Amino acid sequence: MTSVEIRGITKSYQPGVPVLKPLDLVVNPGELFFLLGPSGCGKSTLLRILAGLVEPDAGSIRFNGTEITKLPPEKRRAAMVFQNYALWPHLSVYENVAFGLRAAGEKKADIDREVKAALELVRMAEYADRRIPSLSGGQQQRVALARALAVKPALLLLDEPLSNLDARLRDTMRREIRRICKERQLTAIYVTHDRQEALSMADRLAVMDQGVIRQIDTPERAYNAPAEKFVASFLGDANFIEGEYDGAGRWNTPFGVLACDGTAGKPAGNLCAMIRPERIRIGTELGMNTIPAVLTGRSFTGESCEWEFEAAGRKIVVTESAPPERKLGETFPLLLPPDQLIVLQ
Ligand code: ADP
Ligand code: MG
Repeated sequence: MTSVEIRGITKSYQPGVPVLKPLDLVVNPGELFFLLGPSGCGKSTLLRILAGLVEPDAGSIRFNGTEITKLPPEKRRAAMVFQNYALWPHLSVYENVAFGLRAAGEKKADIDREVKAALELVRMAEYADRRIPSLSGGQQQRVALARALAVKPALLLLDEPLSNLDARLRDTMRREIRRICKERQLTAIYVTHDRQEALSMADRLAVMDQGVIRQIDTPERAYNAPAEKFVASFLGDANFIEGEYDGAGRWNTPFGVLACDGTAGKPAGNLCAMIRPERIRIGTELGMNTIPAVLTGRSFTGESCEWEFEAAGRKIVVTESAPPERKLGETFPLLLPPDQLIVLQ
């Protein structure tokens, strides 16, 4: 199992346009780590730097404590899986998976054993003789994964590997990739812009924005306790409430004074908190931390309902599973539990 240590990595493709600002990150041995962020934030650039395909302007990379920043790709034992599979269409499944092992000059019997084991792992053993164009997108991605696994990489790098697959297949492959990484005890770094993918698969994740890591955390902590607005919105729907905090327990918001657990120890001044739509409760009577709000919209998704409310001229979104009938235009008390109001930086 390999640890990865990234220190002060920077990259610009054009002078004066930094794509990665000094960036630090440690990935633990055996971890399935996600780089999550919007398109263009520098995720693929960082992954390519790890693979040795792009040279950083500054900084260092260590695998298991050994600096590899200047090593060529073939000496790094990092295998990459791409969104477009990058398979050789004229070769069979078997030959595609064997390719890296042949290039490394492995013995025929070893190649055969590794190829079979890798195809077994991705459940493609019976397709060994098939040609690539005869396979579905999902099967091609499994072959690409087998090819990466066959070389027994110290580090597996995946760049949006499921983006070309339809939603149901993506769901199956998420579970499969996680199973394989855990079975093989692989250290893997997985790039995606899809928050569901990152939240459902990651041991830990880094939320990136414009070449900067905004937060590194477990999916649960990043979702429940985001450090800042960008992370809160990128990981899910969020209601933001801005107010003036007096430094002594009173937080004046457009909805009146609200209690909020996270204010403890905060200095007086402007204070913004967020609350997830599913953490707000639609009550029956007014009480502490309850605000009267008019129901203005409804959107039913099957497993839940997203209600839109208006209070003090502001929109509040609330989601409910197993929602009862509610009439638009009526006023409801919304309870914002003090421990669900997360103070942002
Ligand atoms: P992501 O994978 O998060 O979408 P990328 O790392 O691909 O982001 O790109 C980050 C930024 O760097 C983008 O603005 C992109 O246009 C630019 N970029 C990426 N590769 C190159 C390149 N080879 N030459 C010039 N600019 C590039
Ligand atoms: Mg990319």
